[in-house]
Amino acid sequence: MSALKHIKIPYLEDTPEPRHQVRHTGTLSGKRSFQVLRSQGPCPFCLGESQQNHETKIVVAEPDAIQGQGKKTELFADVLMTCACDFSHRGQPSGLRGCGRSWSQEVEVV
Ligand SMILES: [Zn+2]
Ligand SMILES: [Zn+2]
Repeated sequence: MSALKHIKIPYLEDTPEPRHQVRHTGTLSGKRSFQVLRSQGPCPFCLGESQQNHETKIVVAEPDAIQGQGKKTELFADVLMTCACDFSHRGQPSGLRGCGRSWSQEVEVV
């Protein structure tokens, strides 16, 4: 369970370097070459949690690409994410969600 405290930063459309490392996990659905990644995790700027769908092209590693080990193939996807937390931010345009920040997020596909 994550209990991050939301930070009420003013809304700003920006793509700064994240100051926190946050962990996102997601699940895939859709066809092989064009899939929808449903990710969940906090915004690294305001720490507000959001769940988002991303259309993404994922190269799925062949199960036997990693030799030996016999362990589950780990799959990650990098997506450009924009904060969509449920909290209000000062200066937030109506109809929009989140703090406005975008960042490149590594999502662990589970
Ligand atoms: Zn945010
Ligand atoms: Zn927020």
